[in-house]
Amino acid sequence: MSTLLELSGVSVSFDGFKAINNLSFQIGEPELRAIIGPNGAGKTTFMDIVTGKTKPDEGRIVFGEKNISLIGMSESKIAREGVGRKFQKPTVFEQQTVRENLAMALKNPRGPFEVLFYRKTKLGADRIEALAEQIGLSDELTRVAGELSHGQKQWLEIGMLLAQEPRLLLVDEPAAGMTPAEREKTTSMLVEAAKTRAVVVVEHDMEFVRRLNCKVTVLHEGAVLAEGSLDHVTQNPEVIEVYLGR
Ligand code: ADP
Repeated sequence: MSTLLELSGVSVSFDGFKAINNLSFQIGEPELRAIIGPNGAGKTTFMDIVTGKTKPDEGRIVFGEKNISLIGMSESKIAREGVGRKFQKPTVFEQQTVRENLAMALKNPRGPFEVLFYRKTKLGADRIEALAEQIGLSDELTRVAGELSHGQKQWLEIGMLLAQEPRLLLVDEPAAGMTPAEREKTTSMLVEAAKTRAVVVVEHDMEFVRRLNCKVTVLHEGAVLAEGSLDHVTQNPEVIEVYLGR
């Protein structure tokens, strides 16, 4: 496993308050990683700085070979470098079918301008089928996205992000509001997706983190408080203090 994302001494302040405070850590490729931490720990700001929505005041963020913390690296440029982000709420095109949603998201192997054509080729159609299979929606391809359950919409959006072939996928609380069966499927989907890329899951729900069975980074006051297996970090007295002392 090689390093894909490396944060070194990154700080972000809002009106003098350090939301991210000298944060350093790495994510490998491929890897599945969970990021946990109490409210206000800096989890959202972490996603914002990696995707370029917020620029750090100090420090460096290297993705692949590139310094993505530079001012010139806009959100869209960073996305094109291979960083995908799944927000908590599903955002799919409700009036379009599952197939159309996936087709719109498809990355054209030959460049963005040929995507309209590519969708209609056998190659494009095969890719859509494979994605639908990956997100458990093979039987729903002709259904309008607005008719899907909450869980299915979340999977469809994960599929749309995977269609972009990101090297790093950031996912914010994917299992929130899901039924136990949907959570189970989401777990397998993320584990599978993380076999060929980095998947970082920001999560509150410890039971879900346990299911992911991956390395966990605990953030607190904008820095790493502990890192390791879930059992390892939850036995850490400082982590217990941070969670129970609130
Ligand atoms: P988490 O996602 O772990 O709950 P956040 O990254 O949202 O934490 O927030 C970290 C800290 O930074 C919090 O104290 C929050 O109030 C503060 N913060 C985040 N964004 C802003 C902002 N745009 N302006 C002012 N303060 C902010």
